[in-house]
Amino acid sequence: MAETPSITTKAPSFGNFIGGEWRPAESGRTFESRNPADSRDLIGHFAASDAADVAAAVRAAEEALPAWRATPAPKRGEIMYAFGALLAQHKERLAHALTREMGKVLAEARGDVQEGIDIAYLMAGEGRRMFGDTTPSELPDKWAMSIRQPVGTAGIITPWNFPIAIPCWKMTAALICGNAVVLKPASDTPHCAVLLVELMAQAGFPAGVVNLVTGSGAEVGVPLVDNPDVNVISFTGNGDTGRDILRRGAKRMLRVSLELGGKNAIVVMADADLDLAVDGIVWSAFGTTGQRCTACSRLVVDESVADELVGRLVDRANRLRLGSGLETTTDVGPLINSAASDKVGGYVGVGTDEGARLVAGGSAATSDGLAHGHFFSPTILDGVRPMDRVAQEEIFGPVLSVLRVSGYEEAAMVVNSSRYGLSSSIYTRDTNTAFRAMRDFATGIVYVNAGTIGAETHLPFGGIKGTGNGHREAGHAALDTFSEWKSIYVDYSGRLQRAQIDNQ
Ligand code: NDP
Repeated sequence: MAETPSITTKAPSFGNFIGGEWRPAESGRTFESRNPADSRDLIGHFAASDAADVAAAVRAAEEALPAWRATPAPKRGEIMYAFGALLAQHKERLAHALTREMGKVLAEARGDVQEGIDIAYLMAGEGRRMFGDTTPSELPDKWAMSIRQPVGTAGIITPWNFPIAIPCWKMTAALICGNAVVLKPASDTPHCAVLLVELMAQAGFPAGVVNLVTGSGAEVGVPLVDNPDVNVISFTGNGDTGRDILRRGAKRMLRVSLELGGKNAIVVMADADLDLAVDGIVWSAFGTTGQRCTACSRLVVDESVADELVGRLVDRANRLRLGSGLETTTDVGPLINSAASDKVGGYVGVGTDEGARLVAGGSAATSDGLAHGHFFSPTILDGVRPMDRVAQEEIFGPVLSVLRVSGYEEAAMVVNSSRYGLSSSIYTRDTNTAFRAMRDFATGIVYVNAGTIGAETHLPFGGIKGTGNGHREAGHAALDTFSEWKSIYVDYSGRLQRAQIDNQ
């Protein structure tokens, strides 16, 4: 994020949204957001906020909370539904803005917005469900039930790779439960957050219920986590950042939900439909330029079909067309920024130093009008071993490591040799093998005969091991992050009944 207090261009300026008003950072500082496909394209200037702006936003949330939590959940759902409808109405405009700011191809940007629409409608419905339990009491003439109540003010810290979908996943779940939110979006995609929050205001969320503070992780993210009036933090991003947030939060027993990285594997068995597998691997490894937390970065393939499969993948990877995601001819857009491009290039060197064979791509792409963007050729490293760094560390770019195995047992062992546990997949025609994989693969999401990407919003989303700390997003599981359970007992016997000790 480049700070540019004195830049003079015609690009628009955008402020924070606090207590229902758009306002600049208290310091007056700004930063730029630029198109990763062409860094000459300046999208706008955004508030470079700090702890003072965070404090103002948290205060606004606190003030809005009593009325919002007292609003019946079905009424909250009506506003949520209106928000979903606005997202649908503005889908094309949002998708174009998303591609321009984040780089993914337009079809994927539409999918990103669609996830926002889907979760808004799902959570609108949760306003009418929000189920607790009614359950028999162990005593006569006594009623027992549990209900969900809001946690309070939710700090939402999001990455750039799904700049509409991820804020929507988190904010809709928080809001339907009756929490107020302060969103701190990634500094690479502040414009998407502004557009999203504009629509939320238009949908009718009362002033102070939704707040937006843009700025860096250090100056906005840290004070948000440390603010004693923030009751829950929901974070998606890098593992190191997540651990830092968890450590800070632990000092005051803060509720923290973390969605971190992945090192997702696709297994291809000897009996797999290779045509199907090739399509799924190309889409999972190189879609969104490999910048999905569920992207396939490890191909675990049975030795008997490995040469044929790798040959076909190399051919497909070499034919993928790089370019601006706004062009209909583009298959693969840019990486998010130059640091990402350097990181991916560095990992290609790490892989070849470890003994892997570079069989496709391997370098930044700068020819044919790509020179002003952060493009990287789809890359395949063959002959990678399970404990090599390129098999263990998240590269977050278009790099596929190929690991050759012999049979299902070894494949499952390799899948599970990762410190992460988000998504996995198996291609096989054998039902028994498929069911074993569903049972054995140590990931929060398992696909059979499909790639590692394509989560649907009504199912829980998240992972195990280094991918998170046990929470889930999406589905009704997301409500657990943003609500407290309260158990309620009503004794209508008219006498003292002592539970547990006198009911024999
Ligand atoms: P980061 O962790 O760098 O950033 C995520 C967000 O946290 C940004 O808004 C960032 O602000 C902010 N931030 C940075 N430092 C701090 C801090 N110390 N305290 C509080 N907030 C902070 O991740 P990336 O944006 O680079 O996202 C890519 C990563 O996210 C990948 O590793 C990927 O796997 C993971 N990811 C995981 C997903 C999942 O569901 N499991 C989904 C999507 C991505 P700023 O932008 O200003 O630096």
